[in-house]
Amino acid sequence: VIRDIVQLGDPTLRQRAHKVRDHGPGLQRLVTDLLDSMESVNGAGLAAPQIGVPLRVIVTNVDEGPLVFVNPEIKWRSKETWVANEGCLSIRGYVGPVERAERVEVRAQDEHGKKIKVRAEEWFARCLQHEIDHLDGILYIDHIEDKSLIRAANEDFEVEPDPIEADEAVIEFAE
Ligand SMILES: [Zn+2]
Repeated sequence: VIRDIVQLGDPTLRQRAHKVRDHGPGLQRLVTDLLDSMESVNGAGLAAPQIGVPLRVIVTNVDEGPLVFVNPEIKWRSKETWVANEGCLSIRGYVGPVERAERVEVRAQDEHGKKIKVRAEEWFARCLQHEIDHLDGILYIDHIEDKSLIRAANEDFEVEPDPIEADEAVIEFAE
């Protein structure tokens, strides 16, 4: 089921998500909804809080195809970092440069509770760091000290004056 993606200002985005302890039908439905919702907007990743569910579940779709991570944890990150523009489905229409570790190692479970370990680099590593941040109530804009670097993703998108002054600012979106 395709679910609505909550936008900046929704308290769920700022909440620390709860650990998943039950891998039953409720989780299977959540995973299906996350995958459906990510696919419907051609997203590279989606975290459960973004559809209003405060649980530690993310899905990604970078290089390797759709993947599911339950209770993911970053166990290691490289000292080498790189900066690239990121956007977020919950901050529609904007992008901004974020410094991230180049490589990470993530441990998690799959949707059935089986342990998985992933070594990721570049965009996949960036996506995992972005999505796992969501589980702790952290958004990519929090990593950008100079908020003036956050800009409209394309010229057609109308930016309200001073769209993001404080990190909890509610953005009015021109559709
Ligand atoms: Zn995001």
